[in-house]
Amino acid sequence: MTTKSFWLEEPVELLPRKGMAGTPDVAVVGGGVTGCSCALTLAERGVRVRLYEAKEIAAGASGRNGGFALRGGSRPYDTMRSQLGAERARALWELSERALERLSGLAGDAFRRTGSLRLAADDEERSALRGEVEALERDGFAVECVDVLDGLLAGLFRGAIFHPYDGALQPARWVRRLARQAAEAGADIVEQEPVQPHEVEADAVVVAADGLTSQLVPELVDAVRPTRGQVLVTAPLDRLLFDRPHYARYGYDYWRQLPDRRLVIGGSRDVSLEDEETDLDETTDVVQTSIEQLVERLIGQVPTVTHRWAGIWGTTPDGLPLVGRLPGSERVWIAGGYSGHGNVLGLACGELVARAILGETPPELELFEPARFELEL
Ligand SMILES: Cc1cc2nc3c(=O)[nH]c(=O)nc-3n(C[C@H](O)[C@H](O)[C@H](O)COP(=O)(O)OP(=O)(O)OC[C@H]3O[C@@H](n4cnc5c(N)ncnc54)[C@H](O)[C@@H]3O)c2cc1C
Repeated sequence: MTTKSFWLEEPVELLPRKGMAGTPDVAVVGGGVTGCSCALTLAERGVRVRLYEAKEIAAGASGRNGGFALRGGSRPYDTMRSQLGAERARALWELSERALERLSGLAGDAFRRTGSLRLAADDEERSALRGEVEALERDGFAVECVDVLDGLLAGLFRGAIFHPYDGALQPARWVRRLARQAAEAGADIVEQEPVQPHEVEADAVVVAADGLTSQLVPELVDAVRPTRGQVLVTAPLDRLLFDRPHYARYGYDYWRQLPDRRLVIGGSRDVSLEDEETDLDETTDVVQTSIEQLVERLIGQVPTVTHRWAGIWGTTPDGLPLVGRLPGSERVWIAGGYSGHGNVLGLACGELVARAILGETPPELELFEPARFELEL
């Protein structure tokens, strides 16, 4: 059984195909945000690029996520600062801020700049939030501390951080739009066409499959692990209560309302962490029930649930993606493993891998060097 997301129900327009004869210079495997971003950059530079998507554009995590467009990486800024050092953490945050800015220019009405709210579920998380605010402020990044919450949130949470530049996406609309821009720039986009990276003809092949990376490149089995996330959508609520991305318990719970007041809510992976380490696109009763319990805690009832789905992302041991040439391969490149935080970084990393193929050496590539992990060769 596979699930279909609410976002993917929006009608799709056919992509323009200019028709590219013969073997492309670069083949991109995967039509999510990463693959479309990579194809756009290459096509704009005059490279003959063909993108192969096994299903439809945005069929993977890119069309199944919560639609949170957040700057930064998968871990809070202070954690990344301890992990990477101040200079490299700053470089990562700045890269993501530039990508978010670019996204807001490319996405049109698929993006709304709302800011996002990271909430503290208890006193321990409240002090963790303070740690992130202090580190962000020390390094000059915009952030606001919210000590006193209003309305519903006041009784449930112990404070928050407001990230003013973040926003909310209709993620499938965004990535379909990105694919259209790539096609208009000359990329040949072929849907319903599964391919194997080692078999596809091209001088260079980019694997842009995030959670499905190790299906295509088994050497990366320990470096990028498939991880399942589950989401549900309710019928429109009576009132608009959450007009921006909200997340709590370090991202294990997340929710937002759409302009028509539907609640989009997901997470609860931690009720069965081991079962959620899978590439099976299926919802489970235990996680869906836990998400419904969160709905009840937030709004006092569970309205009709209209959609439920699952999606797969790729998690890496250090929470950072892998972007660059596959170690030991002349021809295969990789961009993926955003550890659940790929909406903005996927745009950035698709462009980075394209530039690396073109022979450029953007400094941020060093952060994401695939050879930092020992591969299963
Ligand atoms: C439930 C959920 C919630 C999330 N929430 C957020 C969020 O709010 N904010 C955020 O930043 N990130 C979030 N993420 C993570 C984010 O969605 C991903 O990191 C990002 O979309 C990855 O994009 P991608 O293009 O690298 O991979 P994908 O979008 O997964 O695209 C990979 C594509 O490769 C295709 N493919 C696979 N095998 C083949 C083959 N053999 N041949 C051709 N094509 C193939 C697949 O069909 C798929 O379309 C979430 C993910 C999930 C699942």
